Amino acid sequence: MSNKTIQNNNNYDNTWLIVQNDLKDDLKSIIWNSWVKPLVFINYSNFILTIQTPSELVKNRIDNQYYDKIFFRAKRLFIGLNKIKFTVQTGKKNFQILNKTMPIEKNQTLSSISFTDNASKILNKNYTFENFIVDKSNELAYFSAKRLVQEFNVDYNPFFIYGNVGIGKTHLLNAIAWNIQKNNNKKFIYISAERFMYQFIKSLKMNETLRFKDQFRSIDILMIDDLQFIGGKKSTQEEFFHLLNDLIDNKKQVIITADKSPSNIKNLDYKIRSRLSGGLVVDILPTTFELRKKIIRNKVSTKNVNLEKDIITFLAENIFNSVRELEGALNKIMLYSDITNLNLNLASAKTILADYLNKSHKKITIKDIQLEVSKYYNLQFHELCSKNRSRHISKPRHIAMFLSKQLTDASYPEIGKLFGGKDHATVIHGVNKIKFLIETDRKVKQDLDNITLILKED
Ligand code: ADP
Ligand code: MG
Repeated sequence: MSNKTIQNNNNYDNTWLIVQNDLKDDLKSIIWNSWVKPLVFINYSNFILTIQTPSELVKNRIDNQYYDKIFFRAKRLFIGLNKIKFTVQTGKKNFQILNKTMPIEKNQTLSSISFTDNASKILNKNYTFENFIVDKSNELAYFSAKRLVQEFNVDYNPFFIYGNVGIGKTHLLNAIAWNIQKNNNKKFIYISAERFMYQFIKSLKMNETLRFKDQFRSIDILMIDDLQFIGGKKSTQEEFFHLLNDLIDNKKQVIITADKSPSNIKNLDYKIRSRLSGGLVVDILPTTFELRKKIIRNKVSTKNVNLEKDIITFLAENIFNSVRELEGALNKIMLYSDITNLNLNLASAKTILADYLNKSHKKITIKDIQLEVSKYYNLQFHELCSKNRSRHISKPRHIAMFLSKQLTDASYPEIGKLFGGKDHATVIHGVNKIKFLIETDRKVKQDLDNITLILKED
């Protein structure tokens, strides 16, 4: 009797292989390879088909997403099929996530292949909370990050930080990672989006996507830097989307940085956008004059260098694109004074920094500003200079007037003349309106910073 059962099950074993093969027609090969291929037939009795999965993860995914498809195919060959039961293979090894990453050698066993990188190798020891200078342009990101490591509040999931290049996103992400490493034993992965993609593709090539999935899911916290690089990469995005869902649904923390907000990253799948927008999204705004001054003072004092006040002010006023650029300029000056052993004056500082200054010192005209502002707000050039006072035109007009006052040497009357012959009081009124909005309306501040950057980049 028992012999017969085995005999039957052996037959069914082959039947299952046919079902598996049929499913290739229903699923993309990436999906099939990852989720269907590893399924193993256990038995078929009482019209219940029992199938073994290699992990809880696979079991859940199959149950939630592919049950119907599998059932439909299986029913045609397992006569009378009533139900499929998925079990999990026991005694499976867990992967070490933060083990030292070793190069893959020929004789290395598969179970030691890691698709996650060794975080402590990547982290920068200077990028800590203590070394991060806080100011109103970045306080939201800073305090949210600090709060997150204190509480791991699931409401902040995913936690998304965005902002232009060189203004402290990676620094904050590192700070979070250091904090986790120091203060609790949560398992985390810290990886750049590019590296994530590379590892995923590597796993595809090695036919090891399952291992990839397992490794990325057996953690408590996932940190991905520069997510924008995933834009347009379809299969990686698909994988990332499922990973995101699995982690968040299991209350595992996800922390992400990018140069744009989820809705503004190019070629990002809408499902990912909406999932990312569902957590806490904070931005780091372009640096303020005050922040730049603080950063310079801080650096100067830690390096024990003497830098005159007027040089500090000059640097803070003129090198404003990013903290990274500011640090570069400062390093150059400090190196120079180190080598020459001279106390720098403003004139020599300007000479040393000629490269940096030419870039930011492009002469901007009122016409440039008007063109850029019209483009930014989707207006016709003539509308900007018209008398039309509807809000969608008057606000951009005031912004253009404000920028003209900020970025050119023109006087109020001169600006008025170029805005369709308006008098100086009208210009002052417009400029003041924007001055008020900068303090109260984040969107206006952001728009101004964006337009200024565009004007200075050209
Ligand atoms: P991003 O990732 O946004 O491109 P980074 O985090 O790499 O920028 O920052 C660029 C450089 O500027 C780093 O050296 C970083 O330490 C420094 N930096 C940025 N913001 C701050 C800040 N608020 N305080 C101190 N250093 C900062
Ligand atoms: Mg960065």
